[in-house]
Amino acid sequence: MFGELIRATDRPALRFGDVDLTYRQLAGAAGGVVSRIQGKSRVAVWATPTPQTAVAVVGALAAGIPVVPINPKVGERELDHILSDAQPDIVLRDTDIDLGAIGALPAQNFEGEQPAFIVYTSGTTGPPKGVVLPRRAIESNLDALAEAWEWTADDVLVHALPLFHVHGLILGIVGPLRRGGSVRHLGKFSSEAVARELDADATMMFGVPTMYHRLAADVERDPALAQAVGRARLLVSGSAALPASDHTRIFQATSQRIVERYGMTETLMNCSVRANGERRPGAVGPPVDGVDLRIVDEQGSPVDNGEVGEIEVRGPNLFLEYLNRPDATAEALRDGWFRTGDVATADPDGYIRIVGRRTTDLIKSGGYKIGAGEIENVLLEHPQVAEVAVTGEPDDDLGERIVAWIVPAGERPDEQELIDHVAKLLTPHKRPRVIRFLDALPRNDMGKVTKRALGQ
Ligand code: ATP
Ligand code: MG
Repeated sequence: MFGELIRATDRPALRFGDVDLTYRQLAGAAGGVVSRIQGKSRVAVWATPTPQTAVAVVGALAAGIPVVPINPKVGERELDHILSDAQPDIVLRDTDIDLGAIGALPAQNFEGEQPAFIVYTSGTTGPPKGVVLPRRAIESNLDALAEAWEWTADDVLVHALPLFHVHGLILGIVGPLRRGGSVRHLGKFSSEAVARELDADATMMFGVPTMYHRLAADVERDPALAQAVGRARLLVSGSAALPASDHTRIFQATSQRIVERYGMTETLMNCSVRANGERRPGAVGPPVDGVDLRIVDEQGSPVDNGEVGEIEVRGPNLFLEYLNRPDATAEALRDGWFRTGDVATADPDGYIRIVGRRTTDLIKSGGYKIGAGEIENVLLEHPQVAEVAVTGEPDDDLGERIVAWIVPAGERPDEQELIDHVAKLLTPHKRPRVIRFLDALPRNDMGKVTKRALGQ
């Protein structure tokens, strides 16, 4: 999994706040973890945004013991669910990890099919499911991303993502270590901290759309910040759709176009815009190397380019199973293809545009299939709209009617004006029939809008 670690050089590996670890120090501390967990069959890690979490995960991976990362802010009920579902035989917390240990790291190779992680999904659409990820999925996907992003040992990644999901932990910590590069974790996101690192020697940033939304406002206001952000080699966004308006605002202020990628806990990354490819707002690019992707109708037949359908994928990036959920695993697979539950269209050149989730973002109204994301993007272009979520509600006439949940930017906009704005820029049948105002949208810890909480 990690070449550089075994060589244990004095190159920098991790920085969290004022704690720096070289590869040699990381290997020593992780070696300490290995001796502590030897013989265990599953290790849970209390995944605080600290170097201890990274050390615990590296130790478990080196020992070949599957890791279950746990959200340190998890509530009692969800924690009970995870512990009884995953049955770890030890839970490692910060205080269990000695960053100064000088243990030996075994240089063993493990079977590709062996589980490396059990990661719980974000719980955006229902209770989180435990996704069992084998080592070959992690290794092949990180290497495909290295190819896509020209990601090397010279890269210094900066991010502030939580360490209990794929994005922050597997891409954001295991990723740079597999390359032999380094990572700076900010603890907490701020545009100033990101700009400070990019102004120094960081080359890449990973973030979720809520972070880029804040960055857009900050770079518009502060030219020095914009200049620093403009120095990045690559700004990558994922975990949810990046609004086209934020892509454009950041480009206008910094000359940087954000690279969007699309993935899931179950599949790791399926698509990404390439570092040297066209960075088209609203598109997540073509599939990454090794991933087969098709867009199908309800019967499972591929649709034509430009038509909306569900994304199915297959390849070495796929998970093994949902833990203790053979029913859910069987339901998600069709002839070796994984049914993502996400709906999308393909541009003529194969760039994928995510419409949203089949269950919440595909609205069937007046005989049309309408994607929520397209309407959200257009509403965000209105100066009095700060945030928006579009949903469908049962309607006697239309089947479903389009509802727009709006967080105003300053003064509350006129409802009819918003409806006309959509009708004018898109087509009249895509206009919201109902506008509802809110102070904030319900979001989970990845900043994803939890649409099922709307209207409750
Ligand atoms: P749950 O499965 O528990 O409901 P979740 O699907 O949000 O939660 P994750 O596996 O963390 O859990 O997220 C994967 C989902 O995030 C994808 O299926 C997709 O809907 C969304 N997503 C990820 N990247 C993008 C992107 N670039 N654009 C749009 N959606 C994205
Ligand atoms: Mg999901």
